[in-house]
Amino acid sequence: MTAKDTFKAFVLRQENGKTSQAIENLTVNDLPEGDVLVAVDYSSLNYKDGMAVAGVGKIVRQFPMIPGIDLAGTVLESSSPLYRSGDKVVLTGWSVGERYWGGYTQQARVRSEWLVPLPAGMDTKKTMMIGTAGFTAMLCVMTLEEAGITPDKGTVLVTGASGGVGSVAVAILGKLGYRIAALTAPGQENTHDYLRSLGAAEFVGGPEWSELPRPLETQRWTGAIDTVGSKVLSRVLAEMDYLGCVANCGLAGGFDLTTTVMPFILRGVSLRGVDSVMCPIEKRKIAWQRLAADLPAKALESINPKAISLADLPAAAADLVAGKVRGRLLVDVNS
Ligand code: NDP
Repeated sequence: MTAKDTFKAFVLRQENGKTSQAIENLTVNDLPEGDVLVAVDYSSLNYKDGMAVAGVGKIVRQFPMIPGIDLAGTVLESSSPLYRSGDKVVLTGWSVGERYWGGYTQQARVRSEWLVPLPAGMDTKKTMMIGTAGFTAMLCVMTLEEAGITPDKGTVLVTGASGGVGSVAVAILGKLGYRIAALTAPGQENTHDYLRSLGAAEFVGGPEWSELPRPLETQRWTGAIDTVGSKVLSRVLAEMDYLGCVANCGLAGGFDLTTTVMPFILRGVSLRGVDSVMCPIEKRKIAWQRLAADLPAKALESINPKAISLADLPAAAADLVAGKVRGRLLVDVNS
């Protein structure tokens, strides 16, 4: 495979405070500095990308910008000893698509230290089906393991369980033998059969989950993976077992948090934040290897993403931000 002189990319530009977007023909000379040139196969459309493309919030830190917070492809050229032409690689985080050019392009020049070699059993399509959401789910599972939460200890609660992060977290925990409780939003009951097939044993989600709990409630969870935040996280903390651990990575329900010191003092509960953007490279490699090993084939097949092209991005981003999208969106940058 050789580098193309010109290639297509989805570019956001800003002039006089007005943002425009277009699929442009770029040359390799347009690309930023970096020691590895990658032929991109796939990226994915995540909520952050939806906001960037739809111009909602302040995701994009500099213009012009190629959005796309992750990518997977094949190394075309490398001046790094770490990679050779033909190597399959994945990149998530490091602020690509926000501060640095991201994945909505047929060629990307990036820093070798951002890349992870694809583990055996993974291809570029599977990697982006899993995407940043699945990668974050694995980081959350590893965080619980680091806190000593083993399958024999009790039940692990996953919140936002029907979502991108939550459903992969259920699948991984199920494969590892944990007893899992799943919290889904009202109206998501149609996802329960699917989540049960991935390993969920119990479902929660009554009206109390939209109210603030008492400082301490009955102990129910030895571990929790929380993707929702806000009042849901308040209740999770109040219901944790003695020495339980909550891995929180998301704020789908809001970024505020009302709690007391009681769960921390009287039950020794720990609350650990999980971020896929700045995660150290060694941990990234382990997480991708474990996704190849621990994510059941059934879960991977059932991710069943919708494939979209660069031209589909504006409409898909608008739908995503409007909450009209269910499931993963895989961006096939060459279609
Ligand atoms: P999704 O939108 O796919 O899933 C979120 C889920 O949470 C949905 O099923 C949603 O239900 C549910 N939900 C929202 N509000 C509530 C509520 N109040 N009570 C119960 N359930 C609720 O998002 P992702 O799984 O991709 O991401 C989850 C969160 O994690 C996001 O905040 C995202 O920004 C964050 N994230 C963080 C990363 C990191 O590195 N820290 C990486 C990736 C994601 P419904 O659709 O019905 O509203």
